[in-house]
Amino acid sequence: MSKGKILLADDNKLVVKVTTAILEKEGYSVSVAWDGIEAIKKAYTEKPDLVILDIEMPKINGYQVCRLLKDDEYTRQIPIIMLTGKERQSDMFWGIQTGADAYLVKGFDPHRLLSVVHEWIKDSGEKKGSIALKEDAIRLEDESGLMRRIIDILDKKLFQSTILNQISSLVAVADDYRQVIKGGLEILNRVVGNPVGLAILFDEAEEIINVSTPLEIGVLKRIRDIALETAIGYGWEPEDMDTLSAVIYGEENLRTDNGHTDIKTISTAHIPLVSRKKIFGILLLAHKDNGSFGVTANEVLKVVRGHLTMVIDNARLYDSMKQLAITDGLTRTFNHRFFHELLEREWLRAERYNSVFSLMMLDIDDFKQINDTYGHLCGDELLKELAKVLKGKLRATDSVARYGGEEFAIILPETNGDEAFIAGERLRKAVEEHIFIGDESGLRITVSIGISSYPAPGLKERSDLIRRADNALYAAKKAGKNRVCFSAEEAGKKI
Ligand code: GH3
Ligand code: MG
Ligand code: MG
Repeated sequence: MSKGKILLADDNKLVVKVTTAILEKEGYSVSVAWDGIEAIKKAYTEKPDLVILDIEMPKINGYQVCRLLKDDEYTRQIPIIMLTGKERQSDMFWGIQTGADAYLVKGFDPHRLLSVVHEWIKDSGEKKGSIALKEDAIRLEDESGLMRRIIDILDKKLFQSTILNQISSLVAVADDYRQVIKGGLEILNRVVGNPVGLAILFDEAEEIINVSTPLEIGVLKRIRDIALETAIGYGWEPEDMDTLSAVIYGEENLRTDNGHTDIKTISTAHIPLVSRKKIFGILLLAHKDNGSFGVTANEVLKVVRGHLTMVIDNARLYDSMKQLAITDGLTRTFNHRFFHELLEREWLRAERYNSVFSLMMLDIDDFKQINDTYGHLCGDELLKELAKVLKGKLRATDSVARYGGEEFAIILPETNGDEAFIAGERLRKAVEEHIFIGDESGLRITVSIGISSYPAPGLKERSDLIRRADNALYAAKKAGKNRVCFSAEEAGKKI
């Protein structure tokens, strides 16, 4: 009985003769292919237990044969040993890259050949239970059938590497991790043909949704529920569902419900996003058509999974590092250094586009007393809460920075002095009315605000603007606190 079927592909008669003799003597049955095409054909039709491939062969070389066989699920499990004339590092490199299992230098001694062959045949024999596919090996009656198969595989390979390339290039065009995720979802939406892609990031308590084709709001709601359930199924414990923020891209595709939405027909496919053995989120694709996602969708997900996860994770890390460098640790507003950078940007932008902007300096009134009465820790909590109150009352385009201890600087783009005054009053009132550190505490504070604006007479540089806002703040304090003041230089506007 044969110890196993070996397909030997080599165009050198002498090598074939010697190798066949060695193998047959050992009890293996050997089939010979004289070129790459024949090798592929026989690999499909004869279902060998092992393939020995020469690198240089007519028609298709050994690397290409190896790559094709390893790319096809029908032949992937067959071990491949590459043969080469010279012990070249690059040969070895390509041999491994193409998925070869072992590598032998020609002119080998029989013992080495046999031990490698034996090892791999034994290995594949042990794994046989799980190689159901190999048993279904397809019939390839003629050469055109074979070529079709090869083209299919190459096509798929090209398709896959195109997607992977697109995913890699996301980083270059995206400003932050949300954009990276959105881009990734867009690619998947396009490739798989589903209307909705959704990602939940556990740590950020954030949902990023991409809607690529028209969809009823009710369906999206249901899809979000499924995503949340899935995320919780992976062990996610959201602190508070209400704090989950959703960024929806493609909102223009959302339609009001027509009342006929059959939510039972929603199908989804998902992958967990894993980094350093920890799941940091999930990515879910959904459509509302009948039937589940096909083989293609799942295969695409399988292909992109590792790559996409890595790209998203890197973008997240990069963002959080960037964030750390510009954020004040206590209040999560921008730090002093970054405030100056923002101010410079805004100044240059206003200069260039002839636009206006305002600067606010805000300082807590009698904060020393709060610290003295309630303690420094309580003071810290209050600062944190104040930052939230301020951000909640400002536009998304406004920037809040911690300028110093209990002093905040706020840049308001496209805002003239009068508008800034209204905004300042809004902030002042909001703080005045807010009860800090929980309702029971009854703790209230007030703030004083100084405002300066660009452009203004005599305003030459950024430091002038800061000085003017500071002076205005000082004036507000002097006038009795809990008020908003313009810089004195803005004649006639002082309140
Ligand atoms: P005014 O109305 O004139 O601004 O009075 P004030 O007490 O707020 O001003 P002052 O400049 O005399 O004191 C500021 C106080 O703010 C001093 C310090 O205890 C407190 N402070 C500054 N930074 C922090 C901080 O990071 N945490 C806490 N808890 N307190 C701070
Ligand atoms: Mg103060
Ligand atoms: Mg102060």
